[in-house]
Amino acid sequence: MGIVVQKYGGSSLADADAIKRVARRIVEVKKSGHDVVVAVSAMGDTTDDLLDLANGVSPLPPAREMDMLLTAGERISMALVAMAISDLGFTARSFTGSQAGVITDSVHGKAKIIDVTPGRITQAIGEGHIVIVAGFQGVSADTKEITTLGRGGTDTTAVALAAALEADECEIYTDVDGVFTADPRILPSAR
Ligand code: ASP
Ligand code: MG
Repeated sequence: MGIVVQKYGGSSLADADAIKRVARRIVEVKKSGHDVVVAVSAMGDTTDDLLDLANGVSPLPPAREMDMLLTAGERISMALVAMAISDLGFTARSFTGSQAGVITDSVHGKAKIIDVTPGRITQAIGEGHIVIVAGFQGVSADTKEITTLGRGGTDTTAVALAAALEADECEIYTDVDGVFTADPRILPSAR
């Protein structure tokens, strides 16, 4: 059977219990015979908290350092989800966007994905592992710097991975009811 890509947003990963619930869902898909690749966002309000911290130390944080800071949020999630999966008796390998082959342009804070070279993902799948990828981030082909894809970018990561891996399915788990024209929590008139 083919590859299923899943995305879990921050609200689905808000605390340890939520992470364990996500791990159980992931393992169910693996048990059904699919290979599973998961893109994760930062836990809960982590990204907003990191933004506040940055603004607390500098009114104008350098964009490069902002991306180094914000990508840490997804890195926390990917390791914790992998640990929770391991606790269920399955093996998982977590990868940063850069390790996963998410190649972007060099625009910090709103980089565009220009290529995905998922060699390490396919290798890990081949070894029987569940793969967890930090969403919302990549590495610039030109500058070699770590980049972020813009707020909500983990959806983009999931879709790009699904396309590159020729996945059978791409499932987005989030706390809104679909794909909106804007964030419905901020803009109630979003369609
Ligand atoms: N954690 C990032 C954000 O809050 C990316 C995402 O959630 O998709 O924007
Ligand atoms: Mg988020």
